[in-house]
Amino acid sequence: MSVPPLPQSRHLATEIPGPGSVQLARRREAAVARGVASTLPVYAARAGGGIVEDVDGNRLIDLGSGIAVTTVGAAAPRVVDAVQRQVAEFTHTCFMVTPYEGYVAVAEALNRITPGSHEKTSVLVNSGSEALENAVKIARAHTRKTAVVAFDHGYHGRTNLTMALTAKSMPYKSGFGPFAPDIYRAPTSYPYRDGLIDKDLGSDGTRAAERTIRVIESQIGAANLAALVIEPIHGEGGFIVPAPGFLPALLAWCRDNNVVFVADEVQTGFARTGAMFACEHEPIVPDLICTAKGIAGGLPLAAVTGSADIMDAPHLSGLGGTFGGNPVACAAALAALTAVEADDLLGRARQIERLILDRLGRAQADDDRIGDVRGRGAMIAVELVQPDTAEPDPGLTKALAAACHRAGVIVLTCGTFGNVVRLLPPLTISDELLAEGLDVLTGELAKL
Ligand SMILES: *Cc1c(COP(=O)(O)O)cnc(C)c1O
Repeated sequence: MSVPPLPQSRHLATEIPGPGSVQLARRREAAVARGVASTLPVYAARAGGGIVEDVDGNRLIDLGSGIAVTTVGAAAPRVVDAVQRQVAEFTHTCFMVTPYEGYVAVAEALNRITPGSHEKTSVLVNSGSEALENAVKIARAHTRKTAVVAFDHGYHGRTNLTMALTAKSMPYKSGFGPFAPDIYRAPTSYPYRDGLIDKDLGSDGTRAAERTIRVIESQIGAANLAALVIEPIHGEGGFIVPAPGFLPALLAWCRDNNVVFVADEVQTGFARTGAMFACEHEPIVPDLICTAKGIAGGLPLAAVTGSADIMDAPHLSGLGGTFGGNPVACAAALAALTAVEADDLLGRARQIERLILDRLGRAQADDDRIGDVRGRGAMIAVELVQPDTAEPDPGLTKALAAACHRAGVIVLTCGTFGNVVRLLPPLTISDELLAEGLDVLTGELAKL
């Protein structure tokens, strides 16, 4: 089955949302639970390259990738072929009943591409949250300890355990407790805001790590701590890149204290930051690494990968799940990885970084509401503040995102204070579309 190519140009056929989307929104209101929100009011019909086309024929520039998922594109030819072939062979047998090669091949690939050349094994699951849940199970089985430390501005999902790991109350946690016990929170490294308190704290990650370790030792104690769970770049929390030295110092402390270092690379993994994994920028080799989002070209799949001696601590049948490592998702993952490696998408992410930083850097020089521009690769954000202060401006952020949406550009917001616009384009976007999207963003900001 083939569909006609999707034109790679922004095109507004109707107002946003158009009549087709308005009609679907009405049906949705009656049928879909109210707690599920959508960033844009348009309903998608097709997507690919750097474009999402809606049911009214509007073509929007995609600077969101469905939240960092369609890194290789939303209809990557390799992924489409692999999925069509696999779905015709078999859709499911359950790896826990009659296993199949695709699961093994994805585990082999993850063991190969994740940081470190030591012996590793992997388990496949369905979502980022489920990967984090399993990483905590594995760390507890390995250390025979129970406490887990997560971080300010951390985001790890919406299941009960991962709500406990996640920092931000609204909208993720409020009213949904009680949460899983024995989870603690420690300060992270937030160079922009730490630097307002103390210049060294903002630039020297080892200083920030000393503050963190003091909190962990005094409030939890290494003897009780099974795992430290951290995103190498905080995603939902605001694309916060820790100061150099922060992650290596935490890892060294974990190694000295028999604490499992879990890197949550659900958002940062698979070429997003210009390296296969964001841990490589430090560089650090985590004990366990959680992956999901960009892993399978848009199909639901997630994994925990790590040192075999830790990964293999749980007893036989202690890990698993009905759908975990679905064969269609595995076929997609292998094809997506081929796309990353064969099409040099790591290099492409670094080109995109230069293009975005150049544009946003120039915009920042002229606009004192842009407090900070930060990120790596195709994961860059602007933090918006009240003019000449560091006071977060969530109102401006919301207005800017809405203006971009009306103009046919998909941008997402994030941040603990709701004042960050984040850019996560697919790595298949053209330079022209990306530049046009950035022109819309900076042009709309200038008008607000
Ligand atoms: C999205 C995300 C998760 C949760 O993944 P789901 O697939 O939505 O459960 C966990 N950690 C990070 C860093 C994420 O960005």
